Amino acid sequence: MTRSRVHDFNAPSGWNAMLPPRRPNPQAAGRHRVKYAVVGAGYTGAAAARRLHELDPSADIMLLDAGVVGEGSSGRNSGFTRPLEFPMELTRANAGRVQKIAPFLQEGFYWLKDIVERHGIDCGLVRAGVIRGAATDLGESRIRTASAVLDELGYENQILGREELVDRVATSYYRCGLLVSDSYLLQPAALIRGLVDSLPKAIAVHERSQVKKLSRRGNWHLELDGATVEAERVVLATNAYVKHFGYLVDRTVATYTYAALTEAMAPEDAGRTGSMTHWGILPPHKMGTTCRRFGRDRLMVRSLASYEGELSPSAVRAGLTRIYQARWPHLAHVKLEHVWGGATAFTMNGAPWWGKFDEGLYSAGGCNGAGITKGTLLGKRLAELMTGHGEHAGLTEAFGTPSWIAPEPFRRIGYHVIARKERKMAGAER
Ligand SMILES: Cc1cc2nc3c(=O)[nH]c(=O)nc-3n(C[C@H](O)[C@H](O)[C@H](O)COP(=O)(O)OP(=O)(O)OC[C@H]3O[C@@H](n4cnc5c(N)ncnc54)[C@H](O)[C@@H]3O)c2cc1C
Repeated sequence: MTRSRVHDFNAPSGWNAMLPPRRPNPQAAGRHRVKYAVVGAGYTGAAAARRLHELDPSADIMLLDAGVVGEGSSGRNSGFTRPLEFPMELTRANAGRVQKIAPFLQEGFYWLKDIVERHGIDCGLVRAGVIRGAATDLGESRIRTASAVLDELGYENQILGREELVDRVATSYYRCGLLVSDSYLLQPAALIRGLVDSLPKAIAVHERSQVKKLSRRGNWHLELDGATVEAERVVLATNAYVKHFGYLVDRTVATYTYAALTEAMAPEDAGRTGSMTHWGILPPHKMGTTCRRFGRDRLMVRSLASYEGELSPSAVRAGLTRIYQARWPHLAHVKLEHVWGGATAFTMNGAPWWGKFDEGLYSAGGCNGAGITKGTLLGKRLAELMTGHGEHAGLTEAFGTPSWIAPEPFRRIGYHVIARKERKMAGAER
């Protein structure tokens, strides 16, 4: 396993690899003085930069990313998003929290959707059938409870039996599934490329520009290889890498998870991937597997997890191949063309961080597996907070704040103990 690094993953993102070549924005060079510097051009940073410009249009804004847009985790995820989020284990006890968060997620989701539509971002955003698939007793009990709670909350949902799943998603692996209609799928690398490339020209975007040091002498000073930036206000939208600047070391860990896309299938195979044109399957368990169809002729699987570093490429390929073949044995001959990993910032209680770290220094992150909508929302709201717009007390109250995580070596040991237990509970949903 390799140590967590800022932007170079073991393999390129499969989503980004399928897109046409793109010319990255130039590396930052020389000395600059700006009002706002946004570090990290993922969903959170792109949203913060866009909203800062909307609210303070004459200000100089710089958006810096260590890597190239599309190769960060915002271009590596599974592309599931929706205006509603509910935990793996939705019960009457936590339904109140779901309702508290719902208006914020709707705000983030519809703001994002509007940007996609206004700028014609070709990321395949589509309302799709997203199913929580149960393959175990525990999974089934969770989705049946979740369905009853969603009914009470007034959210459209439906339980599908094994035969219906065989018809819709071409696998008999799951015994039943919970279909939530108001769900969306998209091509994540196309989305983040589109979000960054459609930013107003007044925002200076620099790629391959890693901020190596951050210090405060009146204003904030950002040091990069070959460049320095002095900024009145800074946004750290670096997600898991926030710890590299010494923040939240006792609140978040970087966990890595992995995905694979099949090669484009021959028409006779593509015809055996289910009757639903767009579908995705989420697990009812943290350590479970996500799957989806992409386009008409590819399948994707996302699974496995590691702590603060990537697994070896051969272990990832072997693990994802096993998972894929167990679900679609009739398509076992179809090869996994792209296999890659990505990082997420995990917090113990699932709460993201959001707000002011210090005078002029702001940050948001820790959206676990739901950063498309949540990262967008938190980036947007951060810009509003920084420019004195809006009222935000309800946001922190709804999402909560990340809880304390013990220092090393207890953190690593604790992670592995919990992961082992969770893997056991996930059983066949892994
Ligand atoms: C395999 C996988 C599947 C997932 N599936 C989903 C899903 O289906 N739906 C969903 O909503 N979420 C999903 N997620 C989570 C989602 O990808 C993240 O929540 C999201 O990327 C967070 O966005 P962000 O902008 O906060 O951080 P990131 O996307 O991590 O962006 C942070 C950026 O900061 C840059 N950076 C870091 N340090 C520095 C520095 N010092 N200087 C300059 N730049 C720096 C990085 O290069 C990076 O581009 C998944 C994640 C993975 C890995």
